[in-house]
Amino acid sequence: MLKVLRNRFEQGCKTSRYPKENVQLLPRYRGRPIIQQDTPSDIVGRCAAACPQDAIDSIAKTIDMGRCVFCGTCARIAGGRFITFTQDFAVAVAEKAHLITQGDIPDLAQHSRQHFKKLFGRSLQLRQVSAAGCNACEADLNVLATPFFDLARFGINFVASPRHADGIVVTGPISRNMKTALLQTYEATPEPRVVIAVGSCTISGGPFRGSPEITEGLDKLLPVDLFIPGCPPHPMSNLHALLNFFK
Ligand code: SF4
Ligand code: SF4
Repeated sequence: MLKVLRNRFEQGCKTSRYPKENVQLLPRYRGRPIIQQDTPSDIVGRCAAACPQDAIDSIAKTIDMGRCVFCGTCARIAGGRFITFTQDFAVAVAEKAHLITQGDIPDLAQHSRQHFKKLFGRSLQLRQVSAAGCNACEADLNVLATPFFDLARFGINFVASPRHADGIVVTGPISRNMKTALLQTYEATPEPRVVIAVGSCTISGGPFRGSPEITEGLDKLLPVDLFIPGCPPHPMSNLHALLNFFK
């Protein structure tokens, strides 16, 4: 017992002080993109042609964060002249159209639904549905339960049954085989319920876009309240989204 107590004392508190203090991510992290509108069109065209996700509109000079997998190819080709990625992990939006951006993302707290804040601000129980995800989105949601993030201190928990949940968090490209299970889980969640789309697969099909085996966008099946882009979204993006949308 003494050993355990000594160990706890030596370890100290590992929990992040976010949101009171900001969290600095590693330099290689790619967050909110910034686009230089005065970039010559040949560079823009090369970036758009190289994008594996068809996420760059070379005419409007925008990037669709719902499709982007943040691979960094465009930033490498442009050499800092067209698209650069910041370390800003605040990338979630309440309206899908806001994912198409020149770098500006509306303040999520301003677009959150007030009745959700009132209902779930102090206690939010979520059921996660992996609809054929590769497990990276799921892992970066799971990690929110670890001591560093400690999601439960905000009154937010993942629960085992949709009957005990206030909403669902969906990951993966929603394969044909998972579609029924997803819809049944949604129906089993009591109203009022929230629907959160996590990751490029769920928002747009991600790397599986174009396959007849998937649904290209959760919003084609269910009313989505919150979109968190990324492949996978960083745990800080997930945490920022949950806190700003519900608190
Ligand atoms: S970072 Fe996004 S926009 Fe750029 S090439 Fe990769 S997928 Fe396309
Ligand atoms: S968005 Fe990326 S990380 Fe998430 S399930 Fe799809 S492929 Fe995997």
